[in-house]
Amino acid sequence: MGQGSTYRTVEEQQERVLAAVRPREPETVPIAEAGGRVLAADAHAANPVPAFDNSGMDGFAVRFTDVASAADGSPVTLRVTADLPAGSAEDPPLAPGCAVRIMTGSALPTQADTIVPFEDTAGGLADSLETAVVRRAPREAGAHVRRAGADAAAGALVLPAGTLLGPRQVSALASVGVAEVQVAPRPRVAVVSTGSELVPPGAPLRRGQIPESNSLLLSGLAAEAGAEVVLRTVVGDEGDGPADAVAHATRRGADVVIFSGGVSAGAYEPVRQSLAGVMEFGPVAMQPGKPQAFGVTPEGVLLFGLPGNPVSAAVSFETFVRPALLSLQGRSAVFRPVRRVPAGAAWRTPPGRRQYVPAVVVDGAVVPASRGGSGSHLSVGLGGATAYAVVPAEIDEVQVGDLVDVMDLD
Ligand code: AMP
Ligand code: MG
Repeated sequence: MGQGSTYRTVEEQQERVLAAVRPREPETVPIAEAGGRVLAADAHAANPVPAFDNSGMDGFAVRFTDVASAADGSPVTLRVTADLPAGSAEDPPLAPGCAVRIMTGSALPTQADTIVPFEDTAGGLADSLETAVVRRAPREAGAHVRRAGADAAAGALVLPAGTLLGPRQVSALASVGVAEVQVAPRPRVAVVSTGSELVPPGAPLRRGQIPESNSLLLSGLAAEAGAEVVLRTVVGDEGDGPADAVAHATRRGADVVIFSGGVSAGAYEPVRQSLAGVMEFGPVAMQPGKPQAFGVTPEGVLLFGLPGNPVSAAVSFETFVRPALLSLQGRSAVFRPVRRVPAGAAWRTPPGRRQYVPAVVVDGAVVPASRGGSGSHLSVGLGGATAYAVVPAEIDEVQVGDLVDVMDLD
């Protein structure tokens, strides 16, 4: 637990958020459009893989007993009676003493049981349409034959529900003859930055203004987590902008609204002022990211209020929003794996709060990514980070060589 009983632990806040997640009904999409989506139902093989017994080599389909004695000094000559390019539907007969020329992937003639590759014949490919002079016996009957169903039998489970579909998964589905799959809908996300000091990136800055960066950060992270961003906007610190933004987002069908800024205890905290009835505000024992707000509208839209400092917003997204977006899609694993890496530098961490440090791993050691230290306003260091180093609340200082939990981000 953190400092005093008013702090929630990271796990308590995560549980609260995940308990509010209500996945939507799955939808059916062609596999060509399924990349980046999450399977909503187990996928089974429509056809076995391989679909039929076939040749693993370019060469000759033979009867093993015909060539079992072949050797350099005593080659066996077979008469070539047919030719099978890939895709051929033929099943040519194969009499004893004969061979069928066959290309990789072609269906094995029913009467053949073994493949002799061109390399094991005297004539090779060049002299392959009249006779095959076999100079080396196959290792065994069945050599170089790929058996039907060796990879997957028809009906076998190919990928379980909850799997994120990337190119390898989609191609596996294609190979088992699946044309369309049930996937979770993409969560629709609205991203709302708050702050009267924010101006578009590149606009001239008068004193007190800063470029608005969190909406790009959070919409990009949401898209990486499988979401569709339906609204990205900025509201000032005066008035009811946040509640208006929630109404706007709801009309656009948003499942999730992510605010940044305006949730802590300052004088101008528009999210707190505008949405106090529907969101709950309170500190979480982490650094950065202490001020957090979360709520659910009567329509069921999840509202996240993240602190405005860019590193705080990034860490808060990682810790609370990303797991919620993955859970909305039914992903089987919603937290990133953690590995232990020795620290390559020493740094201090706040007592009683779990620390998340944007970091890089160099030569097997983890070091903070920002030259300026661990301050949550150091947005430039975030650009160089490839990981978060996560230090437990009980630790006050990381020493060089200490084993640190590292979450890789890409
Ligand atoms: P807040 O949480 O609103 O108190 O903001 C904390 C700090 O983060 C302030 O210095 C803000 O200027 C900065 N900040 C808030 N929102 C953004 C944003 N969208 N882009 C960049 N910096 C921000
Ligand atoms: Mg603010």
